[in-house]
Amino acid sequence: MDNSKKCAICGNELTRYGNKKLKDGILCRDCVKLASPWLNDDDYLARDTEAMKKHLEYREMNKEKLKDFVEERSVKGKYSLYLDEDTRQFVVSKRKDFKKDNADLLSYDEIEELSIFEEKYSDEQEGVDLLMDIRLSNPEIDNICFRINEFPGLEKDSEDYKKTLSLAFEYLNAFDGEKGIDFEQTEGEKYE
Ligand SMILES: [Zn+2]
Repeated sequence: MDNSKKCAICGNELTRYGNKKLKDGILCRDCVKLASPWLNDDDYLARDTEAMKKHLEYREMNKEKLKDFVEERSVKGKYSLYLDEDTRQFVVSKRKDFKKDNADLLSYDEIEELSIFEEKYSDEQEGVDLLMDIRLSNPEIDNICFRINEFPGLEKDSEDYKKTLSLAFEYLNAFDGEKGIDFEQTEGEKYE
């Protein structure tokens, strides 16, 4: 039996697409779907099978804990931010039904840095994307980074650009006034 063609966790046959490489094996598409959407290829590569098992156990626990989450406030966008102010927890999700989506439940206390920054959409085309980055001290998720504009490649200083920038500040302001969380607006392309 050729184990290199099987998932390191569940043992299922690997499909052609959607697998992720781990440090010591390959994770199948179905197991990838259970992992946090915020893991990038490097995050997978940094984990061995044991670490990945732990991550999936964390995700199972997350699903349970998420049941008690109460949405008290939100900032809606392509990715929405939902806040439970009583427990000082938040989730970021593309889906309205973030509980079904098993969005990662995070605590305000885990936020190390909040920033919004601008990135060139592509080398060939004009236009920029505005991104939000939340650096975390969470053991399973280093950071959450997402594009704020709905469609890629905003024309600088257009109406859409201005709207997106103001939405970016809504995300930042959602945490403003929280003990220990503040940010500085700096001139130029990066806001922190
Ligand atoms: Zn699998």
